[in-house]
Amino acid sequence: MRHRIQTTKPQQFINITQRVADEVRGSNVENGIAVIYVPHTTAGITINENADPDVVRNMIYALNRAFPVEGEYLHIEGNSHAHIKASLMGSSCTVIIRDKRLMLGTWQGIYFCEFDGPRDREFFVKIIEG
Ligand code: ZN
Repeated sequence: MRHRIQTTKPQQFINITQRVADEVRGSNVENGIAVIYVPHTTAGITINENADPDVVRNMIYALNRAFPVEGEYLHIEGNSHAHIKASLMGSSCTVIIRDKRLMLGTWQGIYFCEFDGPRDREFFVKIIEG
């Protein structure tokens, strides 16, 4: 299913775990996998800690230390740092479904990672039985 998401900051991690879990619960698949896919080149997807929001803030901080917004990049659009960060996070993640629930660890959340916002974005969830 297609999900729209509106980002509000230039760089931002948005917890989308509940949206994915709701889709899994509403499906007729008891056991299988969920693939969460982001069709963008300057946004990505990752799984990381959901308890302390400073964790994802620190990830943005560290990514900016490694790949500053301004730099001697060649790409004329001026958002090279965002392309690099999107590739590092990746464009999809897969979570096992057991008994209609995502098999995430207690501290794990699924994050949509915006690196060139704010923008209207989307992500897709594909649920596969197995
Ligand atoms: Zn670009």
